[in-house]
Amino acid sequence: MKKLILSYFIFFFIIAGCSKIITLPEDVTIISNVNVVTMDSDTLLANHSVIVQGDSILMVIPNSKIKIPAKATVIDGTGKYLMPGLVDMHTHIRDTSNLSKYIRYGVTTVRDMAGNIGTPLAWRNQIIAGKLTGPRIIAASPFVSNEDGFPKNAETIDSAKASIRAYHQKGYDLIKAFRMRPEIFKAVMQEANALGITVSGHLPDRGISQALKGNYDIPIDIVLESGFKSIEHLNELILSSFREEWNNVKMEKLAAKIASSNTAVTTLIGTDIIIASILQPGGEKIVDSLANVIEKRGVEGELEGFKNQTNFIINSRPPIPDALSTRVPEFTFKILRALDEAGVTLLAGTDSHNPLFYAGESLHFELEQIARAGLTPYQVLEMSTTNAAKFLGKKNQFGKVVKGLKADMILLDQNPLLSISATRSIRGVMLNGEWFEIEQLN
Ligand SMILES: [Zn+2]
Repeated sequence: MKKLILSYFIFFFIIAGCSKIITLPEDVTIISNVNVVTMDSDTLLANHSVIVQGDSILMVIPNSKIKIPAKATVIDGTGKYLMPGLVDMHTHIRDTSNLSKYIRYGVTTVRDMAGNIGTPLAWRNQIIAGKLTGPRIIAASPFVSNEDGFPKNAETIDSAKASIRAYHQKGYDLIKAFRMRPEIFKAVMQEANALGITVSGHLPDRGISQALKGNYDIPIDIVLESGFKSIEHLNELILSSFREEWNNVKMEKLAAKIASSNTAVTTLIGTDIIIASILQPGGEKIVDSLANVIEKRGVEGELEGFKNQTNFIINSRPPIPDALSTRVPEFTFKILRALDEAGVTLLAGTDSHNPLFYAGESLHFELEQIARAGLTPYQVLEMSTTNAAKFLGKKNQFGKVVKGLKADMILLDQNPLLSISATRSIRGVMLNGEWFEIEQLN
């Protein structure tokens, strides 16, 4: 009997605990009755409310546990899906006119990968100071290279080291590496590692024209052992390792090496898939069909630019071996799957606004291309949310819809866990707690 009474009391307290209504402060914004894609797991939290106070998420809680305060701002999320803001891990912002486009497309953080195109460092600081509206910017230094056409800031070991010190001093978040000679690469990595600033970029020994000429020789093993943080452009792995033919065993070994070195890989496969398609025999027809897609993607005023750029590519075909240009999509998806299976950190990036790629919108295109490799929508979303935040050392700031993080979120009409294209069905975007209806952003 004693036991029974005890059980009764335990039961009573559990019920009492469940039904307790939490009193909320008045100065909150509530996205009410929404399905939350927290990115803490792949399970959807139905019938929840997300409470925002200031620029942060105060709590994520079942509707039944709160009473909405009279003065709260309420955004009705009924029938909708709320997910973390997206991160584009590889952009080149050219001017501030496009910053609002990132917000329009739910991209709340960008890693700008070249401090010599535009002024990402200044824009980053102006956005932090509230003087400019735009996504959170992670700013890379100018390209470090001794290649023609790029800032020649690494001609000698001494000048390379001085450049790294200067960029670190100026406050850049990371160093952007480009092609350089082996002894220069070694010096760059030594200096950056000593200062504790990360280095990401292209595999330093190549670039289509140089690799085919056989210039520069920095084997990928050297790069992986150097502390290099992320290889930009997944398809650089094709040219560095599969110039002649595909080899499954070689790919598995390479993927295992990349995984154990803790080097991440940023996808940027939309670029390769589009350019490879254009360069195939009959590429002109593909340009026409892509032009249709672009019209449908609703990127205003971009169609003419797209046609000019694709014509330029077709007329100046770079020296890619034919076998490669036709097999790029197939190789791309194989590499992506192998890297994923080996446990490599994958990040989604676009190269916007390089020719053919648009602020914000291209990230949705990129995610759709990644999904073509056979990854689940949740895995694809990770590359643009949690993986990015963790890689940047900012997982306590953004990347999930959980208590305590910055309120960077996208409200969608459709469920992104069912189809990755649902990320396009944006109703509104919250950036640092500030809410933008889609109509405001168009
Ligand atoms: Zn780039």
